Amino acid sequence: MSTEAVERLNELRAEALACTACRLSEGRTQVVFGDGDPEADVVFVGEAPGQREDEQGVPFVGRSGQLLDQLLGEVGLERKDVYIANVVKCRPPKNRDPRPDEIEACKRYLSEQLQRINPKVVVTLGNFSSKLLLKTETGITRVRGTAYEWWGRHLVPTFHPAAALRGSAQVLEDMRYDFGLIRDAVDGNLGGESDDTEVGDPVKPDVDPEQLGLFGR
Ligand code: SF4
Repeated sequence: MSTEAVERLNELRAEALACTACRLSEGRTQVVFGDGDPEADVVFVGEAPGQREDEQGVPFVGRSGQLLDQLLGEVGLERKDVYIANVVKCRPPKNRDPRPDEIEACKRYLSEQLQRINPKVVVTLGNFSSKLLLKTETGITRVRGTAYEWWGRHLVPTFHPAAALRGSAQVLEDMRYDFGLIRDAVDGNLGGESDDTEVGDPVKPDVDPEQLGLFGR
């Protein structure tokens, strides 16, 4: 990975580590900015840090992280190949859901991360990141199972690993299907004539890509 790419993200990380733009700064142990390859083809976007993430400053270190690693491995990817971030960078108290004003205050970091990493594929894990980046109120159960064309790249929404850990075996099977889409998107195998995987209609993001800080590759 290039030094320039590392520095681009480190500048932003330094800003986030000092951030007090929302109330979540009051209860955090550490800001969980994000982790992984700053030039990754795939960026995963979760919801918010949990207790262990808050303690260690790294996203997806608990059981959800283990499941994520397993699913990555099943499609020939490793954690070091990807980048992982969350919608909000500080842990909500008692793991409550992040509130709209907190998401609003924090989304500039995610936008900048996506712009600076410029991945081929963005994977949203669960409702919060899927609704934010697809700009939809439709829940994850209905939007998943498809790779969306999204500002010059693909966006693959899937369940949060925590949902698979507490849910039915079907949730895990659905995630396996979605991880197959991620692999296809990385390999450029979506929507080609030799492949019958369809790229779904975008849930039309009505957000201005410049506002999100996203531009085509
Ligand atoms: Fe800043 Fe985001 Fe942490 Fe809020 S959650 S204090 S906006 S880094």
